[in-house]
Amino acid sequence: SLGLDVPQQEVQKRLLTKLKTMATLTTALKLDVLEKLVAEFGYTVKIGEPATPKPKTDSRTNGKAGGLQARPPVVTIMGHVDHGKTSLLDYIRKANVAAKEAGGITQHIGAYQVELPEGKITFLDTPGHAAFTAMRARGANVTDIAILVVAADDGVMPTTKEAIQHAKNANVPMIVAVNKIDRPDANPDRVLQQLPEFGVIPEAYGGQTITVNVSAITGEGVPSLLEMILLQAEVMDLKADPKGEVTGTVVEAKMEKGRGPVATVLVQTGTLKVGDAIVVGSTFGRIKAMADYLGQKITEAGPSVPVELLGLSDVPGAGDRVQWVKDERAAREIAETRATEIRAKTIFQASRGMTRSGLLTKLNAEGLKQLNLIIKADVQGSVEAVKGMLEKLKNEEVETKIVLSGVGTITESDILLANASDAIVVGFNVKPEGGARKEAEKQNVEIRTYQIIYELIEDIESALKGMLEPKF
Ligand code: GDP
Repeated sequence: SLGLDVPQQEVQKRLLTKLKTMATLTTALKLDVLEKLVAEFGYTVKIGEPATPKPKTDSRTNGKAGGLQARPPVVTIMGHVDHGKTSLLDYIRKANVAAKEAGGITQHIGAYQVELPEGKITFLDTPGHAAFTAMRARGANVTDIAILVVAADDGVMPTTKEAIQHAKNANVPMIVAVNKIDRPDANPDRVLQQLPEFGVIPEAYGGQTITVNVSAITGEGVPSLLEMILLQAEVMDLKADPKGEVTGTVVEAKMEKGRGPVATVLVQTGTLKVGDAIVVGSTFGRIKAMADYLGQKITEAGPSVPVELLGLSDVPGAGDRVQWVKDERAAREIAETRATEIRAKTIFQASRGMTRSGLLTKLNAEGLKQLNLIIKADVQGSVEAVKGMLEKLKNEEVETKIVLSGVGTITESDILLANASDAIVVGFNVKPEGGARKEAEKQNVEIRTYQIIYELIEDIESALKGMLEPKF
């Protein structure tokens, strides 16, 4: 808050139009920007001592401060099927990656980087929020910015809505790419009109969500989409210490004939080097070789750089964390301990059955425990009814929070979200799909289905009282 007598929206507008800076209510502005901003309104800035000095170190560097440097944003593309996620990723890659110069074709390693005069952007190129949620379920938050693709001839669809909820749950800022504007039946304005209903208010309507009209076929608007990504990244002030502790996350991994386990890792802090000993989930190894997304051999990779690496003992899982260790022996020990722990946990979970009493542990700001719920029902009317009643359930100690609600069967992606957000899945007049049921068993996510609404309410009520009995 600037304490000026100016409406907030006006401040944001000036910031964007005059100072090319995007800001939300909670954005910390750089001093020079702040000075120019208040000057816009005829004031000057006088700097006093900060009341509470903020620690300057990034917690992930273990306090080895001082080396923080700007890093490229990591971007994921989400949206409804056929709205153009793959086409957009392909267009951006082709237009910005000089594969021929590099002497080869671009490799699909699960991520790529584009280099623009204003900066670099890292794209995760497994589109869709299933991958995004699977990574989050493992505690990996690699995405800085989500691009929500909405086809201008089709508008907001169920998966669009789901993607919005996933991005919101992960607290990842969203940029909306209204795609297919080259089509004669495209109606981008209609998309903008639809979005507020789902809690996404476009800037055109005085909100804070950037929207860009694009065509993944003609390329129209794509440069300004990239510009907006960089602008958003600048506002977020993304930093990492290339000399700090090495951390990274597996984006993709597979077994390849003749090469062994191959993993694409996104480096998050520090610099990964050939020869380093690492532990990745419950696998380990010494990095034998690394290649970038062009298939070129590289010897080191810093923050936000995706690399394909060889040398692991086994294939890790997407979302597994990479940890640097001093030598291969230490790496093996850590990996083996972890593998044992995972086995023990699996046995424990299996014996625990399907109860999730451990759910009621999340404390919110008021010290209330919170029961997270995902609601799926057969028709919109029942979704609203169930939601309305569950939202009201609350006692002195516990309250409910609805993470997602929607019409349709319980899907695998619901389970992934439930796992990521520690929720139970409640179905009314709907059943889980085969894949969802399997995933739920694997992740130990509880699914409860009902045909009678008062049974549902009663059950959740007793869950809130911590008396939830297992139901098979
Ligand atoms: P995804 O399922 O979201 O990855 O969508 P795809 O990228 O596979 O695109 C689905 C279909 O829409 C394909 O036939 C694309 O050629 C087409 N498409 C994607 N983007 C555009 C666009 O901007 N304009 C037009 N006319 N067609 C597009």
